[in-house]
Amino acid sequence: MPDIKSMTLKELEQYMETIGEKKFRAKQLYEWMHKKVVRSFDEMNNIPKKLKEKISQDAGMLSVKEVECFTSKIDGTAKFLFELHDGSIIESVLMKYKHGNSVCISSQVGCRMGCRFCASTIGGLTRCLEPSEMLDQIYHIQYTTGERVSNVVIMGTGEPFDNFDNVMKFFEIINSENGLHISARNITVSTCGLVPRIYEFADRNLAVGLAISLHSPNDEMRKELMPIANKYTIKEIMDACDYYIAKTNRRVTFEYSLVKDVNDAPEHARMLIDLLSGKLCHVNLIPVNPIEERSFEQSEKDSVYRFQKLLENAHIRATVRREMGRDINAACGQLRKRYAESKEVQ
Ligand code: SAH
Repeated sequence: MPDIKSMTLKELEQYMETIGEKKFRAKQLYEWMHKKVVRSFDEMNNIPKKLKEKISQDAGMLSVKEVECFTSKIDGTAKFLFELHDGSIIESVLMKYKHGNSVCISSQVGCRMGCRFCASTIGGLTRCLEPSEMLDQIYHIQYTTGERVSNVVIMGTGEPFDNFDNVMKFFEIINSENGLHISARNITVSTCGLVPRIYEFADRNLAVGLAISLHSPNDEMRKELMPIANKYTIKEIMDACDYYIAKTNRRVTFEYSLVKDVNDAPEHARMLIDLLSGKLCHVNLIPVNPIEERSFEQSEKDSVYRFQKLLENAHIRATVRREMGRDINAACGQLRKRYAESKEVQ
């Protein structure tokens, strides 16, 4: 049974025709799902009962079910754990900023990229998320908190470019004027650097922001932290970024997780400067969030700010990622993992 919430408007129109319905019903349905963001077929009061019955036989309206929510008393950051139809658990985060509300969503259940410092990859990849499951993370958060979501980052569990087609469909639907109409400029996708997909993404001319998880200024060190570095070199990533910049005229964000005594020395900053000088870019420094399973330690505050200063002195914009929701803190993927473990114990 087709998952109608994952369909673009065009696909839904085609689907209506194949089931013998009028094409205009597609737009009505689409707006109920993606603009008015209803949670049941009952609320769709201009759709004939017969059609609702036909499409609701197998497909429900909600693809995610909230199982837990932790809200920070400090800054209102909220972490959500969702259960999917197959029992998989994913997590999403709502962050409140002065400029608006940002939601960080997951793109896969687990991940197969194997980055050494990341908790999401420890159990490997279970499966990719459908567009509806990515959309519903946002729809649910907007509905339950009553907060309008203005920004979206795909930086939760998973490698979005390892789920390329579904993520592109997600962009189309979330950006649609018949949906929430979140501007492409307010969406950022983060990748560990799947080079061919960066080109493909740039060719879509979407104006969606691109963030690259670099974490290291040279290939040797990157290979130690990220297995994907054995497949693509930093030079190949930089060429792909140049292509994206030329196509979109948007700056690329480079994420650099600072690990104590691994990649946080001034010489590393200098290598990074050589790599990025003159590029339309921005560096986001992330003091690594230590996970139990690995022995990585967070860089000292002084090293973090020294690193930032060196970059800024070389005219490379660099910000240190603000730690949101310190009191509910759990490194990427840790909440989900802990929840799964607690269920196994019971
Ligand atoms: N797979 C994508 C997106 C998900 S990870 C990517 O690699 O970009 C989002 C960001 O969090 C990445 O930059 C990732 O490297 C980083 N990250 C993962 N675990 C982390 C940890 N324990 N501490 C700090 N950053 C982490």
